[in-house]
Amino acid sequence: MAYIKLNRENLFYNLKQLSLKSGDKRKIAAVLKDNAYGHGILEMAQMVKEFGLTQAVVMNNQEAQKILNYFDNILILNDTPTANPKLSYAVSELSQLQNAPKDAKLELKVDTGMHRNGILMQELPQALEMIKKHGLNLFGVFTHYRSADELSSEFAWQKANFEKVKKTVRNYGFKTVRFHSHNSAALLRSSEFNEDIARVGIAMYGYNELPEVFGSIELKPVLSLWAKRASTRILKKGQRVGYGGDFTAPKDMTVSTYNAGYGHGLFRGSSQNPFVTAEGLPILGRVSMDFITLESTKDEVCIFNNAKEAAKHFGTISYEITTALKSEIERVVI
Ligand SMILES: *Cc1c(COP(=O)(O)O)cnc(C)c1O
Repeated sequence: MAYIKLNRENLFYNLKQLSLKSGDKRKIAAVLKDNAYGHGILEMAQMVKEFGLTQAVVMNNQEAQKILNYFDNILILNDTPTANPKLSYAVSELSQLQNAPKDAKLELKVDTGMHRNGILMQELPQALEMIKKHGLNLFGVFTHYRSADELSSEFAWQKANFEKVKKTVRNYGFKTVRFHSHNSAALLRSSEFNEDIARVGIAMYGYNELPEVFGSIELKPVLSLWAKRASTRILKKGQRVGYGGDFTAPKDMTVSTYNAGYGHGLFRGSSQNPFVTAEGLPILGRVSMDFITLESTKDEVCIFNNAKEAAKHFGTISYEITTALKSEIERVVI
């Protein structure tokens, strides 16, 4: 059986570092979309609430319903607005203002340069007029940076654009609106955070994806993937293991299969360049849907405890390694 361990102490340590940056833990909104980046949305919601966070961000209504009782407000990034005092909804297009229910809390997303979602900056006055005219409830105004994790002028340029947005919103008389733009990278590199919340995902889970030049706040991975032994056998010198027989035993060796594979979300990779587990064991031969073979007789093994290192091996980013893990895998909080 594969299972996931979630390390509460490491999570609290990360949240402490992030609160020092934001100045107040209530200014950190935990981004719990996509099953909390594969960590487990319920387990993570429970723990971040225990730490004292009051704000969360998810993708849709379905996710929000699961954690409704844990937070004062949950921002929903992409779903149809409903009138619920605990939920706020991202509005990314002018047309969405036409259909929004009057009592729904809306957070206007403005495109300050990423060009993925959000109304154009030129459309902002029109959007604010519509909100006034229809008597809509504008709860927040926000944006998202495309290059907060890179050393370039792009970040400063987008930030300056967002300052203009804030000014326009205030000039239209919206005095109580909350403003936010920072993701993990932006918060970690900022020295004078002064917005109402920061939307923090990857850093909370333990990964600082910023280049060294920004000074490195050390964070600690929350998740580790474990697997239990299914069976053990002796492989004679010259015998080959698994599909295609890609691994040939160079000597007599004792190997075991462990119940974890690409069916659990472990990347299959290539048997020519095997992934090496956290305990230094290279995967022998191909990764199957539910099994890997290792030269070990231990009853359980840690497959990885650092998604950033695993990501390096598989040529991707930490986000994809953890988000790939299936929600059916048992989560154990330690
Ligand atoms: C996912 C997401 C975040 C969190 O980004 P991290 O890099 O994980 O901190 C913040 N804001 C928006 C709009 C997002 O979609």
